[in-house]
Amino acid sequence: MAKRILITGGAGFLGSHLCDRFIGEGYHVIAMDNLITGDMRNIEHLLSLPNFEFYHHDVTKFIHLPGELDYILHFASPASPIDYLKIPIQTLKVGAMGTHNCLGLAKAKRARILVASTSEVYGDPLVHPQTEEYWGNVNPVGPRGVYDEAKRYLESITMAYHNFHGVETRIIRIFNTYGPRMRLNDGRALPAFIGQALRGEDLTVFGDGSQTRSFCYVDDLVDGIYRLLLSDYHLPVNIGNPSEISLLDFAEEVLALTGGEVGITFKPLPADDPKQRKPDITKAREILGWEPKVGRKEGLRRTFEYFKTLPSEEWSRQPK
Ligand code: NAD
Repeated sequence: MAKRILITGGAGFLGSHLCDRFIGEGYHVIAMDNLITGDMRNIEHLLSLPNFEFYHHDVTKFIHLPGELDYILHFASPASPIDYLKIPIQTLKVGAMGTHNCLGLAKAKRARILVASTSEVYGDPLVHPQTEEYWGNVNPVGPRGVYDEAKRYLESITMAYHNFHGVETRIIRIFNTYGPRMRLNDGRALPAFIGQALRGEDLTVFGDGSQTRSFCYVDDLVDGIYRLLLSDYHLPVNIGNPSEISLLDFAEEVLALTGGEVGITFKPLPADDPKQRKPDITKAREILGWEPKVGRKEGLRRTFEYFKTLPSEEWSRQPK
């Protein structure tokens, strides 16, 4: 019989790619989402499949799911700053109560659960690159604290369920990921740049653009999640692409790809914006045999192709 997996946040960017991967691997996939930042278009191609189910549900409320369950991937949570600054309480609730509910379900069903944490648990890191042993530098009362602290709590309660209830848990710390099905108006650097290029506007770089990020293509991330879920390692694992680039150089790469005749304008840096981000992926290499395969040039090309297929009215939608 097919293994049954629940994917919370299944209609979101990462969740929908996970649905595709696990359907492709022959699983029975149950996606759950309240659509607060997700989009049914991401999974509409799956809705008629016999081994796919969708539940419209808020995971901060009790989760009742009939039947057996082998695995849970807990990915429900607003993920981009523009979202979690707009819905800070929901962000804290889904990281806290949503994670608690998912862990309770894993315990009741004797399912293995993998929870989505983030490089944001490192805050504005004082250690570079970031290894899993680094405890982070987070401002709990800053604007980003609602997301960072929700995810730090998610990790804590997950370890508690592992240690006190013997639940099989996995924790992934995801670094910036990009690819098709990101939202053009989600405020993150890549879709913001591509949206501006498509509209023929200058690209906006915050600060002087010297702050660095590392961008992982979504297929690579999904493969890392798949390997971690099936591994026997319960401590956090970084998954991301260590190829680091300054935001200014990144804007220039996007300009070269889109061929736009536009320039770059600079705006003040938002509060608590991390200056450097780069994963140390030694653990992923050694424990999971994983490393990223899709280079930025190819990943950017695939992502740009996707954005071009969207109706042009969507290009003109400004960040909310
Ligand atoms: P997304 O906003 O596209 O997807 C999140 C999904 O969760 C959405 O479909 C949303 O409707 C759903 N959701 C939110 N609150 C919910 C609730 N209470 N009940 C049910 N569904 C709810 O974001 P994403 O980029 O796909 O991120 C998915 C997960 O990965 C998040 O947990 C995020 O913190 C984590 N993550 C993402 C990145 C990244 O680069 N995209 C980096 C680090 C961590």
